[in-house]
Amino acid sequence: MKRHNYSAGPCILPQEVFQEASQAILDFNNSGLSILEISHRSKDFVDVMEEARSLALELLGLEGKGYKALFLQGGASLQFLMVPYNLLQTKAAYLNTGTWSTKAIKEAKFFGEVTEVASSADKDFKYIPKGYFIPSDVDYFHCTSNNTIYGTQIKEFPNTPKPMICDMSSDIFSRQMDFSKFDLIYAGAQKNMGPAGTTLVVIKEDILGKVDRSVPSMMDYRVHLNKASMFNTPAVYAVYVSLLTMRWLKKNGGIAGIEEQNEKKANLLYSEIDINPLFEGYAEKKDRSNMNATFNLINDDLKESFDAMWKEAGINGLNGHRSVGGYRASMYNALSLESVQVLVDVMSELERKA
Ligand code: PLP
Repeated sequence: MKRHNYSAGPCILPQEVFQEASQAILDFNNSGLSILEISHRSKDFVDVMEEARSLALELLGLEGKGYKALFLQGGASLQFLMVPYNLLQTKAAYLNTGTWSTKAIKEAKFFGEVTEVASSADKDFKYIPKGYFIPSDVDYFHCTSNNTIYGTQIKEFPNTPKPMICDMSSDIFSRQMDFSKFDLIYAGAQKNMGPAGTTLVVIKEDILGKVDRSVPSMMDYRVHLNKASMFNTPAVYAVYVSLLTMRWLKKNGGIAGIEEQNEKKANLLYSEIDINPLFEGYAEKKDRSNMNATFNLINDDLKESFDAMWKEAGINGLNGHRSVGGYRASMYNALSLESVQVLVDVMSELERKA
């Protein structure tokens, strides 16, 4: 039985992408070789990398606007320090909306002063702060578009003349927005894109080269850009599978098409959380994430029955993050509306039985 996978990662992809990806392990492009054994300098793989880089920009609507895409290693966590290494001269502004922003702030402090413009730590990161002020003397402003653990999502980004940097690891390619508001976007592949091991970094080139420090080669965005994302051996398979997912996304209506699906899925689940008296949402309603819905049982005595019921229905990965508890339904691009209906049916069945 195909499971309804609500896991927060890694990595949730459409079945047809998994099929194509497995075929390429046996025989890539009818070459008689596996994608895992071809040279990363071969034309076949250079073509994969180039298509992946340009398709990422195309899907984000950033072609011809001064941006370049890279597929780097080290996860989003390495970007927590590559961003300040390359961009922080004296001071940077950070919005703290959860665990991942907190980690990004910690790394930035190795390179300069950090101004936390606002934080939702006072209410266990259940909301997105609004109306904060970004000082004019900072080198950049950094935020996290979707808080995977707490289930909140920024709906409106501030207007700032300063470069805006965004960690979009858990909602990249899931909703439409004006991506040209951002000067650097990074996202670990392992939610909506591909297997863990590669990180998409989209950079507006003109923000680089403004810090005084020497940047070691592997940390330097300009080195990776000059080498067309092939400075060292890239994560060949992770980049290839990310390309397959991006092709799938393009074929299925691009970000606009998937956004419509994602809204339907989120509306269906949140409506059940709100009308079913046995459950309550974790995040404040106005800031709820369409990717990660966090919720709790009001009466923990029902936990055993509920857990048995959703497992019996073929649902996987519904437990909340260890730091928050409760439940987290991650509804990445590849999860179908039908899978969300299965969860909603289990929740209403619990209500009938209770
Ligand atoms: N940022 C966000 C929003 C995440 O959800 C995660 C992981 O889930 C990370 C950063 C860390 O990513 P990585 O494990 O690729 O370093």
